[in-house]
Amino acid sequence: MFNALHPTASGTRFNISYEFFPPKTAEMEAQLWASVKRLEALKPHFVSVTYGAGGSTRERTHAIVARIARETSMKPAAHLTCVSSSKEDIDDILNAYWDAVVRHIVALRGDPPSGVGTTFEPNPKGYATSSDLVRGIRRLHDFEISVSTYPEGHPESRSIEQDLDALEAKIDAGATRAITQFFFDNDVYFKFLDKARARRIAIPIVPGIMPIRNFKQVANFAAKAGASVPRWIAERFEGLDEDPETRALVAAATAVEQVMGLARAGVEEFHFYTNNRADMVFAICHLLGVRPLREKVDA
Ligand code: FAD
Repeated sequence: MFNALHPTASGTRFNISYEFFPPKTAEMEAQLWASVKRLEALKPHFVSVTYGAGGSTRERTHAIVARIARETSMKPAAHLTCVSSSKEDIDDILNAYWDAVVRHIVALRGDPPSGVGTTFEPNPKGYATSSDLVRGIRRLHDFEISVSTYPEGHPESRSIEQDLDALEAKIDAGATRAITQFFFDNDVYFKFLDKARARRIAIPIVPGIMPIRNFKQVANFAAKAGASVPRWIAERFEGLDEDPETRALVAAATAVEQVMGLARAGVEEFHFYTNNRADMVFAICHLLGVRPLREKVDA
């Protein structure tokens, strides 16, 4: 079905990464670690942990990332934003990661503290843009640095060209991988990729895949995040508000369709927004051929 395999972390031609967020309750914490354990078996390239809006999860993000580094075989990546932090604060956070043997940062500007849609006012002693942050990280330690990118344009951008300018600035500052905002129409991604490659942007632009567990929530989030929800996706979830079981099956089928479409077109890297749950992404990876290595059983 696919081209000849070449080895990646997963043992297939695919490089997979998973994103988690810092949970708020003990119950959600248990779910996070159960998911981390289950997905570890698939040998992801890396796993990332988000940083709460306004830096609200500074300690919790650090604790989870450091525990993944300490207790699992996976390489963690810590999300970090410029919001509300001075350059000195950022240096402290980075030094703590370096000491915890964390070597990968997902560097972001972050949303304006006064809310999405308002003007971003940087901390007077902090970094003003994501590219400034990347430069600051690069200056301090030899971290691997991933950044975001927006195939449909960041809500504050006037054009896709402006997003590509921003991506180029981040690469010039030292970023080596871009992870996309989620999207549901693969053509959006292919067009963006064509524009990026036409500009000689050569770093991996890894599609961010968001399984739609809760359509209303995802649609609300998409409206703020610079992602469109095609009409045909909305139609698939119509009438399922009170039917979580069917919704989960439709969500899995929709995500599988999207990922297989990308894979057929030659995409070999995927970043999954897991919502701290393993089941759906585990199944998608299974279909991609990314599976736990079987232990050799002696006869
Ligand atoms: P940027 O690429 O910095 O773009 C933001 C705006 O600034 C754009 O309009 C862009 O054109 C402009 N711009 C960029 N660089 C420059 C420059 N050098 N000069 C002038 N203008 C510039 N948010 C969190 O709070 N925590 C997270 O953990 C988190 N993780 C994310 C992970 C991914 C993969 C993605 C796609 C988003 C994530 N976000 C997170 C959301 C993100 O913080 C917001 O979308 C934020 O509004 C923009 O930050 P950015 O670094 O993604 O965007």
